[in-house]
Amino acid sequence: MNLYNIKHPEQQVNFAQAVRQGLGKDQGLFFPATIPQLSNIDELLALPLVERSQKILRALIGDEIPADKLNAMVKNAFTFPAPVAKVAENIYALELFHGPTLAFKDFGGRFMAQALATVRGDGKITILTATSGDTGAAVAHAFYGLENIEVVILYPKGKISPLQEKLFCTLGGNIRTVAINADFDACQTLVKQAFDDEELRQAIGLNSANSINISRLLAQVCYYFEAAAQLTAEQRQNLVVSVPSGNFGNLTAGLIAKTLGLPIKRFIASTNANDTVPRYLQTGEWQPNATVATLSNAMDVSRPNNWPRVEELFKRNGWSLNELGSGALNDAETETALKAQYAQGYLCEPHGAIAYQVLKDQLQEGETGLFLCTAHPAKFKESVERILGIELPLPDALDKHNKLPLLSDEMDNDFATLRAYLLK
Ligand SMILES: *Cc1c(COP(=O)(O)O)cnc(C)c1O
Repeated sequence: MNLYNIKHPEQQVNFAQAVRQGLGKDQGLFFPATIPQLSNIDELLALPLVERSQKILRALIGDEIPADKLNAMVKNAFTFPAPVAKVAENIYALELFHGPTLAFKDFGGRFMAQALATVRGDGKITILTATSGDTGAAVAHAFYGLENIEVVILYPKGKISPLQEKLFCTLGGNIRTVAINADFDACQTLVKQAFDDEELRQAIGLNSANSINISRLLAQVCYYFEAAAQLTAEQRQNLVVSVPSGNFGNLTAGLIAKTLGLPIKRFIASTNANDTVPRYLQTGEWQPNATVATLSNAMDVSRPNNWPRVEELFKRNGWSLNELGSGALNDAETETALKAQYAQGYLCEPHGAIAYQVLKDQLQEGETGLFLCTAHPAKFKESVERILGIELPLPDALDKHNKLPLLSDEMDNDFATLRAYLLK
């Protein structure tokens, strides 16, 4: 597989290099040089998730990774289902929250961990990342138990929900978690300092495994096929997909699926009040506002880092950005949408509620709508319980961790201390 840096197209790498490096020169994003057109879509859709995903990823990645290895990577990563549920007439939900950390990031995170373990080469690898909650959990679970890979996760002490903390700070083994006596920005700065320290980088094989890694996007392509596989041929004729978007990785993956030949009529990018993209699509002007906190906090992003990949794909395919639907909901509208879904008999959470409502508002006669449910309702327990006036039981995956002791170390906001800790 060949990829190029969108900012500096002369920088070309293969899949292994792109996975190891994450970002290219000048923080440029890597993007596949070619995306094949698959001719056998119906045959693919008839296969089970893992087998189909192995074929899709083989088509994208090529023979750079031996078939048995790639097949094992997919099998180890995709250990949970992605069911489609009917929510209203002609509207379906793709539930992406049945993985170990109850969010769709498990798909990309787990495949990235498998990919990194496969292409790592010799020597030690240390994954260092800062989290305000969800990413840390997905990374910890994805890398847990992988040989010769150490994971260190920094988070702001007392600033993430106790339940979230339990989910990734109770694993032990190759996962070390550190509660920093400071805020999330300080945690991110510590991580940056570590990456700027060439000696430290070499000594412990520092890798960020961050959200712009191409392996995540490729994995996410597979669940769009899984959704289509659960719909009838007739429903697939006029399929409109609404994606709750923050950094726009999820939407990028959907667009890659369409490029491969999956019949999706159009996409809708759904956001919360951090609506840089919907405004851009309407006015043609890219004007990010200051990020505001919302109920759907995983989408509180005003400078989406995957947007250049979206534009690149539209340009390369000769598509017009006018074909991309979009819509934004504020918190009050999100609450109304969540209640409306619940009244229909479907329990959702704020991110999925936004995608649902924007889809419902824009779906036309004769179209079938699909929206992505990116997190389990229990992950946003406090909001969901308050808005709907119900009590949510803890799902088993959370309950199990909730009963375990916290294993985190505590540290002041001091790079020298962190450095010594990493080298230990
Ligand atoms: C990360 C996340 C999103 C946003 O996905 P992007 O790929 O960043 O657009 C939406 N919902 C939830 C629950 C998330 O965790």
